[in-house]
Amino acid sequence: MNPWPGRVAARNAAIAGAGRWRSIRTLDGGGPRFALDDGRTIVSFASNDYLGLTQHPAVVAAAHDAIDHFGTGSGSARLIVGGRPLHRDLEHELAAWKNAEAALLFPTGFAANLGVLSTFGTDDVLIISDELNHASIIDGCRLSRARVTVARHADVDHVAALLRDHHGGAIVVTDTVFSMDGDVAPVGALVELCARHGAMLVLDEAHAVLGPKLPDGAADEITVLRVGTLSKMLGALGGFVAGPRPFIDLLVNAARPFIFTTAPTPADTAAALAALQVLRGSEGASLIERLRGAIDQVAPQHPSPIVPIVLGDEQRALDASASLLDDHGLLVPAIRPPTVPAGTSRLRVALSAAHSDDDIDRLAKALAGL
Ligand code: PMP
Repeated sequence: MNPWPGRVAARNAAIAGAGRWRSIRTLDGGGPRFALDDGRTIVSFASNDYLGLTQHPAVVAAAHDAIDHFGTGSGSARLIVGGRPLHRDLEHELAAWKNAEAALLFPTGFAANLGVLSTFGTDDVLIISDELNHASIIDGCRLSRARVTVARHADVDHVAALLRDHHGGAIVVTDTVFSMDGDVAPVGALVELCARHGAMLVLDEAHAVLGPKLPDGAADEITVLRVGTLSKMLGALGGFVAGPRPFIDLLVNAARPFIFTTAPTPADTAAALAALQVLRGSEGASLIERLRGAIDQVAPQHPSPIVPIVLGDEQRALDASASLLDDHGLLVPAIRPPTVPAGTSRLRVALSAAHSDDDIDRLAKALAGL
């Protein structure tokens, strides 16, 4: 007798019974405007394409050129088949962008966090992880052999107390912009604390399109590893870690999510390289200014493009999301447990420089009418 269909049916029924069944919606188009199956056009406020670079002509052209030159796949892991010049060039540019000696690409940001925490979190190390850190950091902690302690959210005093009680290697790891709350970590204070205790600071800057900035000179005082993704402000797919050369060298030699997986595709690598050039140039500065303006229209002074509207009850969040879609043609996802704690279900608005003034107006009016 095969017990598996029954086991899986029971688990699915438990999720559905708890009102937490989720399924994938298919949207046609490139964003932020998409066509639904019924032909309606909607505007998405769900994507992390903060600068709209997935659609930028130079980024798209770079991906096309890379496919023409290198083909579609990268074949295997770089230690087996070698990298392409694109991988080397992108790592060079990412390191320059992050003021670091070196950088290393991973297939995703998720894999980058797994690689960093499993490599440096050896069994003699304490990892202190913010309670609202991204799932990939939580899983990286689980994969490490370190002792892991969860610190209260953005609570520097709590991190200080945990470091004071510990003698030996320590890693403090935090999102710099929290992905479901859009608030920011106290990066400056954490740098000071890590300097005092000789702790390594791992910053996940996946959503840090507007900062917070690492204080100048921080990398001279402490070891800081900066994790990022190519999938949000850089319009592609992939992850990276930037930091001191010997730390990147150790990742090349010890990080299993780098060693045993296929390198990012030529198209993604070239797209991110072109996107980084746009981002660091004058066009990037105006896109960031545009994004800042859009955020200020919805949530003045809010520090990131992720604006949570906490409604509490799961059904309320689902109903609000459905009404925004059905009545206003705006896709604003409902976020609920287990992604966020029970009682804090919310709408998550993600703003982008690609949204038009009219898109933002419509959103602001629809939110006001909820
Ligand atoms: N870190 C944070 C804070 C994230 O929000 C995400 C993605 N949502 C990741 C890491 C993972 O990045 P990627 O999508 O490139 O795997």
